[in-house]
Amino acid sequence: MQKHLFLGVEAIGQGAIDGGMSGVYAYPGTPSTEITEFIQDNPIAEERNIHRKWSANEKTALETALGMSYAGKRVMSCMKHVGLNVAADIFVNAAMTGVNGGLIVTVADDPSMHSSQNEQDSRFYGKFAMVPVLEPSSQQEAYDMARDGFALSEKTKVPVMLRITTRLAHSRAGVARKEVLPENELVMPADPRQFILLPAIARRKYKGLLDSQSLFLKLSEESEYNRYEEGTDHSLGIVACGIAYNYLMEHFPDGTCPYSIVKVSQYPLPENHINRLNRECDEILVLEEGAPMVEEMLKGFFSNGTPIKGRLDGTLPRDGELNPDLVAKALGKEMFEGFDIPEVVANRPPALCVGCGHQDAYLAMNEALADYSKGRVFSDIGCYTLGALPPYETISSCVDMGASITMAKGAADAGLIPAVAMIGDSTFAHSGITGLLDAVNEKSSITIVISDNESISMTGGQDSSAFGRIESICIGVGVDPAHIHTIVPLKKNHEEMVRLFREEFAYEGVSVIIPRRECIQRASSRKRNKK
Ligand code: SF4
Repeated sequence: MQKHLFLGVEAIGQGAIDGGMSGVYAYPGTPSTEITEFIQDNPIAEERNIHRKWSANEKTALETALGMSYAGKRVMSCMKHVGLNVAADIFVNAAMTGVNGGLIVTVADDPSMHSSQNEQDSRFYGKFAMVPVLEPSSQQEAYDMARDGFALSEKTKVPVMLRITTRLAHSRAGVARKEVLPENELVMPADPRQFILLPAIARRKYKGLLDSQSLFLKLSEESEYNRYEEGTDHSLGIVACGIAYNYLMEHFPDGTCPYSIVKVSQYPLPENHINRLNRECDEILVLEEGAPMVEEMLKGFFSNGTPIKGRLDGTLPRDGELNPDLVAKALGKEMFEGFDIPEVVANRPPALCVGCGHQDAYLAMNEALADYSKGRVFSDIGCYTLGALPPYETISSCVDMGASITMAKGAADAGLIPAVAMIGDSTFAHSGITGLLDAVNEKSSITIVISDNESISMTGGQDSSAFGRIESICIGVGVDPAHIHTIVPLKKNHEEMVRLFREEFAYEGVSVIIPRRECIQRASSRKRNKK
């Protein structure tokens, strides 16, 4: 059978299309971005007119996806793990409302924090919301789960989480495609009141969700993604979750591991398999990518005192990505020592691109702030976060999407005036607007610098949902138009920028300065595409 060499993210995009999906709703975030980009460029998606435009943030994405599910269609919402924090309200409540058309929430976790603020494990959210969670061990399973997860969602009547991690998202393997399923017809939910979470209905729905747990467990026990693989050596049993199964089997190229294994790729945990492992093995090693979620559960699971090894007892590191070397070490296997890194390979710390407009904004801000005490610039998430590094060292915070404006407001409320927020155009659209509303309502003495590079550059140059409308949004939210200024961040405008910053830093109220120049990477790719 012909196979396609897909990245994990591409396998998910193709699987969702082949599963009869009618729409994807997402906000870009590494390592999940390319799922939507793949769907945007896909000929079947084009032909079917599958919805595939970016949303303003993860919450609006998932809410819109639930709306499409309400109308009976199959739909996916994609985000990175910290994006699920933004969408947590709707995610947990969608488990209560249930779905009509199948809804898959694909969440890409980033253990080792390659490009993230933390390495939280989204499986906890799945457990918290009490919905089935799928965790592929390979690109093939990623495809299969994305394709068939809609049917699982429709069968269980709740959203299904598809959890992946960076390594699976961004590595390739051969994937065999299956038949392309038709889209669902538009159909109203059998019980339209299920989506009204008034207390009386919500109580009924919550009982229903609790009652459904036995079905979710049964489906997990019967799932083709979970299985018991009997070994010959019972001194150790292994629970291998998601991609950890792949890392384990890399050490047994003939496919036979001497130890018994419970392969877990669908949750809730398949209790029968786990109980059998406990009965038959002297001790248990838990291999999981992310937090020791399963390990913690197993520690409270058995009454016979079976030793449980994993990330909690130091057999594996408590943080960071799992990999085949760490698995080998946990198994007591000899490890191949790699080659030393040759000296010609230079360390390349991250830096703003040469000529990036953020640089000019930072240089002007530094000069305008020179007369004040340090630590007044609250920043946000985007390329401009590199303003924390030399030679700029302008910013003092980067916490979550949109926190620059609200943190600056809090500091100003505490008396730190002037307080400055540095936020990008897409982050402003994602989560800054409501913070600005708070600041306007309280006439806070803050200056908000919306560094507008006319794209979401950090994740590859997608369009910001506020493109071309930043000034009108600020006016609409209530900023005095006399204190909204736009300037082109170029060396030749340095003196004018410094003067503008000085004036607005001294203003007692909300002011907005918009340094606007297109990201040079985006501009060059736009020009290339025109040719
Ligand atoms: S990608 Fe664009 S916005 Fe980011 S540093 Fe480079 S030029 Fe600046």
